[in-house]
Formats: sequence, C-alpha cells, structure tokens
Amino acid sequence: MFVRRVDPARVDWDHETELAIVGGGGCGLTAAAAASQHGVDVTLFEKADRLGGKARVATGQICGVDTPHQREVGIDDSADAFCEDLVDQQTAESSAKYDLNRDLITTVAGNSGAAMEFLGDVVGAGLTLHRGRFEMPGHRVHRTHYPVRDDGVVPRAGQPLTDRLEGTIRSNGVDVRTGFPMDQLLLDEDTDAVIGVVSKENPDPVPRRQPNHAVRADYVLLACDGFAADRELVTDRFPELAQLDYWGTRENTGDAIRVADELDLALDVPLYDMHGPFSVPDGIYLPNELVKAGSIIVNESAERFMDCGDVPYRVMDMRILEQEHGTGYLILDRAIVDEFLDADLTSHQFGYVLDDGAFDTADSVDELAALYGLDADALRETIADVNGDDPAYGRAYPHELEPTFYAAKIRPMYVKARQGIRVDRRLRCLRADGTPVDNLYAGGNASESLEGGDPNVYIPGMDLMTALTEGYMVGTQVAERTEAVR
Ligand SMILES: Cc1cc2nc3c(=O)[nH]c(=O)nc-3n(C[C@H](O)[C@H](O)[C@H](O)COP(=O)(O)OP(=O)(O)OC[C@H]3O[C@@H](n4cnc5c(N)ncnc54)[C@H](O)[C@@H]3O)c2cc1C
Repeated sequence: MFVRRVDPARVDWDHETELAIVGGGGCGLTAAAAASQHGVDVTLFEKADRLGGKARVATGQICGVDTPHQREVGIDDSADAFCEDLVDQQTAESSAKYDLNRDLITTVAGNSGAAMEFLGDVVGAGLTLHRGRFEMPGHRVHRTHYPVRDDGVVPRAGQPLTDRLEGTIRSNGVDVRTGFPMDQLLLDEDTDAVIGVVSKENPDPVPRRQPNHAVRADYVLLACDGFAADRELVTDRFPELAQLDYWGTRENTGDAIRVADELDLALDVPLYDMHGPFSVPDGIYLPNELVKAGSIIVNESAERFMDCGDVPYRVMDMRILEQEHGTGYLILDRAIVDEFLDADLTSHQFGYVLDDGAFDTADSVDELAALYGLDADALRETIADVNGDDPAYGRAYPHELEPTFYAAKIRPMYVKARQGIRVDRRLRCLRADGTPVDNLYAGGNASESLEGGDPNVYIPGMDLMTALTEGYMVGTQVAERTEAVR
C-alpha cells in the first residue's frame, strides 16, 4: 500500500517540514536548492545511498531556452521556438496519434532560462553553452549546455552539476535522508489532503526491525523518476524492450506510478527511451556524436539501413532494434578517431572509450568482415557505395571511409521508461477527473512528458532541462506559498 489515509492526531510524527521531496535526483535536488534558498524548511528522501539519481550518470546535455549563456552570445531563442522544434519531430502518422501538451511545453521551456540562471549564479554550477562541432540534431539554435568540472574539463556527465546541487542544499540546511525511500504517502482521512510521507530506512542485509519515520509536510513533491528499473513493469508496458538491457540507476522502480494508481491520479501515455550505441558484449557507451561524424552502421547482411548521421539517437536506436537480432555494426576509421581526440567536447570521453578497448580494428574490408562473420562482398559493396558520389541514405562527411577501420558490434540499451502523472501548469498532480491535488506536485520523469508519448519526439537534452526546470518551478512556488502563509 503506497497511500494511507490516517487521522493526523494519531500519527507519531517524527518531524515536521514545509516541503517533503521524494527523490534526490535532477528534479528533487533542484527543488530542494530553490526552496531552501528562500528559507523553506525542506526534507529530502532519497532511496539510494547517495544523491544524484540518473541526473548524476547522465551524459550531461542540458538544453535551455533564452538562457544567460545564449543571450551573452546573441542567440535569440524562445519557448515557442522550442515547442515548434518538438512539433517538427512528429511524423504525419504520429501527430494523428499523439497530442503534445503545448501549454506544458512552453511553460517548462519558458522557465528553463531562469532555472539555468539559478543553477549558474546561485548553485555555482559551471555550465557552458556548446557551440562547436557535434551539435545534436533537432535544435534550431545552439541551446545545449554542459556541466564543467572545476578543472575545466567537460566530462559529458551530470555529476559536476549534481555535486554542486548537493553542496548547496547541505549548506542551506536541508534535512537530507539518503537510504530512506518513501514508503507511503499519508492523506488526512477527513479532508483527503496530503499531510506527509512515511519512509522506511533501507533494510540491512541482516534482517532487523525497520523503523518507520513519519514526516508531516505541508507540500510534497514526487521526483522519483519512472519505472525503468522494474523489469516486470517495463515488459508489461513495452514488450519490445524484453530483449534489451537497462542503463541507469536501480532505484527508479515506478513508486510515483504506484502512488498515482492508488490515488486515482491521471497518467500520461507510457514512453521509453533508448540510448546508444553500446558495444557488445562489453556494454561500453560509444558517444553518439560518433555516428554524426561520418561513421556508418550496417546490419547482419552488411547493408546500411539509414544515415545514422542524420537522425536523433532515439530514432537511430529504433532502426537498429528493427534489424535482425536488434544488432548493428558501427564502422568508422582512423581519421574520425583522430578528429574526436582533437575536439574539446569529445576528447575526454573518447579517450576512455579507446582505453576500454571498445573497438576492433581491421586493415582491410576482408579483415573487417571476418571479425563479425559478415559477407565480405556485401560489405565491400556497401563501403564502395558510401565512398561514391551518391550513397544510398546519404552521408554528410567529406572523407572516404578507409583503412584502418575501427568497428564495434552494437546494440541500444534503454535508459528511460515512464508514465508520468498529469500536472497543471503549476505542476500540481491532477486527479482522473482533472482537478488538482493542491499540495502534491510531480516533476521530472515522475510527471507528464513533454513528448506526449510520441517516440519520434525527442530533442537531446530536453529530459534534464525538464527535470531541473520543473524542480526549480516547484521550489520557487513552494517558497512563495510558504511565505504567504507565514
Ligand atoms: C545513461 C543516461 C544518460 C542520460 N543522458 C542524458 C542527457 O545527456 N541529457 C538529458 O536531458 N537527459 C539524459 N538522461 C536522462 C536524465 O538523466 C533523466 O531524465 C533525469 O535525470 C530525470 O530526472 P528525475 O529527477 O526525474 O530522476 P532522477 O534524476 O533519476 O532522480 C530520481 C531519484 O529518485 C530516487 N527514488 C526513486 N524511488 C524513490 C523512493 N520511493 N523514495 C525516495 N527516492 C526515490 C532515485 O534513487 C533517484 O535518485 C540520461 C539518462 C541516463 C540513464
């Protein structure tokens, strides 16, 4: 039971707080930082032993609209432009099937500039706007920001940002409870208002009595992501993912959905996201800019099936999954490797990939085909076509693909499975009848997706933008509301 209706007078409250946050990842940390900065008393429950969630392990692309970084270099951007970029991703077929919530998209995008400003100025997150090569498709202007480490390296990871957020909330005196998952949401049995959270300390390996901690709260934010780590829920909602592995954190097991089911809240369309490519069998993540820089992907018949350089990575992953055994072979060459090692944005991460031995090398097409048991004549024909004047599927790269070849057998993994709680523009959870639960918020992957369930709609960096911005929005709103009642 995830929701319990109680008489507040009979609960043995451990503690009282103004804002209880469930989940200390991208959304929860930002909400805690924004609220505590204004003096709100915040208690943060985190299931894992450390903070950060998926935002910490993410590759760190964060899009933001009308941010200080964009303004500084004269980039004109707007929430409407961002919304149009999402709409442009829809196909004729998908737009007939899925509705995008333009109001929510423009509200979130419209607040993302302020959220980035807060993260930069108050939290001290070093962010840089990427304007060099390897821009991700789908954005009409440069709006991808990356966290920068103290030593100036852009590690293509969320961790520098989540570390800074953790520093901020600890110095603001937030009651941080790692290893304390939300176990139940408490409602007043008379008024049906949300009144608190029960958390159970994570069980030790040796079974013992687990103390319950009931924390009374004026406002609760569900920021505990989706259900990607719950295999049963994943295969129930998305049978096609049964053959894939998951890349992410193990705590994200769908607790927000369980609350929503028991409270009869409205849920949006289920959605998953893949990421890749990953080498087989080692599971090493190969930066997906690689495929934009002139690599090709062939299937087990040694044939290309898309211009992987020209599609968002989610679409690329879907195409790979459609091939026999859901497998592809990524082929690049020494010139591309050198280009990656030379570029600031990719050199750090790419160096690791090479050191980890993600690639096989071959000095001829025959050798390359033999590595994976591909038909050598078919592969020769494919590479000749790629190097010709008018390659099938196209290839926007000025150099021919030639030995020494670097190659890897690849598969996608899934990184996200979610079915968010529908929210109003203030991010309050909506009941099935459309009315808001006044003091219960949802943000990040626990709340409604901007993609509206359409698998074609994705612009890289939008997930972190959504999680961070929604956390910022909830934190500042609760600050305003508590200020009003003080
Ligand atoms: C490998 C990888 C790379 C990615 N790269 C990018 C990228 O470059 N750009 C981008 O935009 N997005 C990226 N994403 C997606 C992005 O990381 C997530 O969309 C984002 O972190 C979601 O934020 P969130 O706060 O909703 O969830 P999270 O950041 O996952 O935080 C949720 C937190 O809730 C905790 N939790 C779960 N259940 C409970 C409970 N019952 N009680 C208490 N705590 C609980 C979890 O432990 C976790 O810490 C990536 C994801 C992965 C896995």
